[in-house]
Amino acid sequence: MSTVAFIGLGNMGGPMAANLLKAGMTVRVFDLVPAAMQALADQGALVSSTACGAAAGANVVITMLPAGKHVRNLYLGNESAGNGSEKGLLDVVAGDTLLIDCSTIDAQSAQLVAAEAAKSGIEFIDAPVSGGTAGAAAGTLTFICGGSDIAFERAQPVLNAMGKNIFHAGGAGAGQVAKICNNMLLSVLMVGTSEALQMGIDHGLDPKVLSDIMKVSSGGNWTLEKYNPCPGVMENVPSSKGYQGGFMVDLMVKDLGLSQEAALLSNSSTPMGSLARSLYVNHARQGNGRRDFSSIFEQFAPLKK
Ligand code: NAD
Repeated sequence: MSTVAFIGLGNMGGPMAANLLKAGMTVRVFDLVPAAMQALADQGALVSSTACGAAAGANVVITMLPAGKHVRNLYLGNESAGNGSEKGLLDVVAGDTLLIDCSTIDAQSAQLVAAEAAKSGIEFIDAPVSGGTAGAAAGTLTFICGGSDIAFERAQPVLNAMGKNIFHAGGAGAGQVAKICNNMLLSVLMVGTSEALQMGIDHGLDPKVLSDIMKVSSGGNWTLEKYNPCPGVMENVPSSKGYQGGFMVDLMVKDLGLSQEAALLSNSSTPMGSLARSLYVNHARQGNGRRDFSSIFEQFAPLKK
């Protein structure tokens, strides 16, 4: 049975690692936050005192970190990065270890780590996810992978334990490109859904009834079906829990920055993505960075009297 090292046990990584334990795998964990490791230890994981300690000797290493700089520092090594060691994971893993990074980062960082790993004959795939914290907990995430055919095949058993739709988008970095295309579209849908719902409310409509109508009409989309931004319309979504949990505005701002960088590189025209980034940056600047991204709905609220 595989030994999996899981590094980065935040909102997503924690429940993903828990699903590997449920599937009967041996899981070694590391996070900079001791409480995050303890929560996994309570479910049967082995706690390591450094990231390299978790990765050395593991068959598979999975990372779920905030951004590209964390991923580069962790794999390639950086004395001041706070990993508990100046060594990078590439310095300690065996040649037959499979490396899977599930963070959403820039494609260039993913390609850099993949190229450095390939120098030692080590397979690395980028495998960012979609499905949010609910999908992570339920084991129903979508994985969007970039890397070789062989690495993609080898990753199936662990990815299947955490998700239900697993795509191979192309070579190194392709998973990241597909992921930011998706998140750019998601931000546009969330903003559009928010302004439409608020306009209906302003005209006296019940947002629940309006949501039911639009869901099965031509404006229907994922945010209406699974993640309604208007409080009280759906149970168990962040909008009905004070916009806590879920996918933070700061992370959406990061992803929209990545999508705009990607657009510049390819000279693509992305006016809606650009506008969505400005709206989300503004929202973060007003103190909403750590709230769920559906809180953008509040930007359309009428002035309080
Ligand atoms: P998070 O901030 O909750 O978790 C990140 C974790 O990484 C934290 O626990 C942090 O302590 C840990 N960490 C940072 N540097 C580390 C290091 N050097 N060594 C070990 N641990 C380290 O973030 P999250 O919501 O879990 O998101 C993680 C990634 O997944 C991000 O790239 C995000 O864009 C992406 N993502 C998030 C969601 C979501 O709904 N939250 C959905 C899809 C994708």
